[in-house]
Amino acid sequence: MKYAIVIPDGCADEPQESLGGKTPLQAARTPAMDAIAAAGAVGTANNVPAHLPPGSDVANLSLLGYDPCRYFTGRASLEAAAQGIKLGEGDWAVRCNLVTIDDQVMRDFTAGHISTDEATQLLASLQEKVGPGGLEFVPGVSYRNLLICRAGERPVPLGGDTRTTPPHDLTDKSVADHFPRGPGSDLLVELMSASEEVFADHPVNVARRKAGNLPATNIWLWGQGSAPQLPPFAELHKKNGAMITAVDLLRGLAALIGWRRIDVPGATGYLDTDYAAKGRAAMEAIDSTDVICVHVEAPDEASHQGDAKAKVAALQEIDRHIVAPLWAALQKRDAYRILVSPDHPTPLRTKTHSHGAVPFAVAGTDVEPHGQTTYDEIAAAATGLTFPEGWRLMDCFLHRTWPHGGA
Ligand SMILES: [Zn+2]
Repeated sequence: MKYAIVIPDGCADEPQESLGGKTPLQAARTPAMDAIAAAGAVGTANNVPAHLPPGSDVANLSLLGYDPCRYFTGRASLEAAAQGIKLGEGDWAVRCNLVTIDDQVMRDFTAGHISTDEATQLLASLQEKVGPGGLEFVPGVSYRNLLICRAGERPVPLGGDTRTTPPHDLTDKSVADHFPRGPGSDLLVELMSASEEVFADHPVNVARRKAGNLPATNIWLWGQGSAPQLPPFAELHKKNGAMITAVDLLRGLAALIGWRRIDVPGATGYLDTDYAAKGRAAMEAIDSTDVICVHVEAPDEASHQGDAKAKVAALQEIDRHIVAPLWAALQKRDAYRILVSPDHPTPLRTKTHSHGAVPFAVAGTDVEPHGQTTYDEIAAAATGLTFPEGWRLMDCFLHRTWPHGGA
């Protein structure tokens, strides 16, 4: 059996006044997704347990069939995997933003979208100050960097009760009450203070101020995670997989579950991504893998910008260039299934990820038509087919005959 999964990141949304009371999925012309809905089943799934943050990390872990309550060990460790950094037992990864804090207020969690080159220089100076041994600052892209804490002679003091705050939740707010707390927080706060000293008169910041740009005044440490122990997908399901995505987080996730990653030139992770190139790459990969998964970040980006029109346009592009050709190619096979589902909702209203159900559509071999004709939030909710623990959907998608009553 051949399987395809298409993930329009964050596409689930609410009815929009600007779209005549329709959700973006309803407003978009998506004949291929609708055909899949008509040929199979639509329902809802909840990928983010109430006590976990509604990030793409937690949500995609669940969508790929892993119980986040059991397997989510923090955002930074997935990002480390994406960069090819291996975490051993007892090692931790911590997100290390470069930020602008002014008078105890978080002015900008991106330090004015500082360049990768400037970020690399700042972190090199901080590394010099901190010295070798156990703590390693790893430059990423722009303000998004990592701190890797290796367990050496002494264990890393961080733990499950360590609390940190994402800097994007603090924009224009006082940071005073939001420094790390709990096990290991002394270490994190110490490093954050050290950065303030090192960065204050750093040539990079001198130049940035002179050019009228925001300086990177501090590092902000958050999103800590220990090494995730994910059983390989092939072990759980006896199927191998391949992932097409432009986003580091998804690349990391794919690596951790033992999937091949297919890089597509022109896949940007933004609204200008080359949809057709992703579609072609997926078609080329069908023969060489059991499960081909295409993740597209664009709908999520459109929501972060609060742009309903761009969200509708992104969905239409995904339908036309990715879902339609995949669905057509699969139907020429003897046995096949397709799953379309976002990871989490990203409402245009709030411009940020949220908890809550997302609509999914499943069609293919041994999936009987369930009587819907469209793929959208309203049609999906109306069926009553629901997976309150979204991670259980993957097993049903791969192995069960449909209809069944959800799980
Ligand atoms: Zn997402």
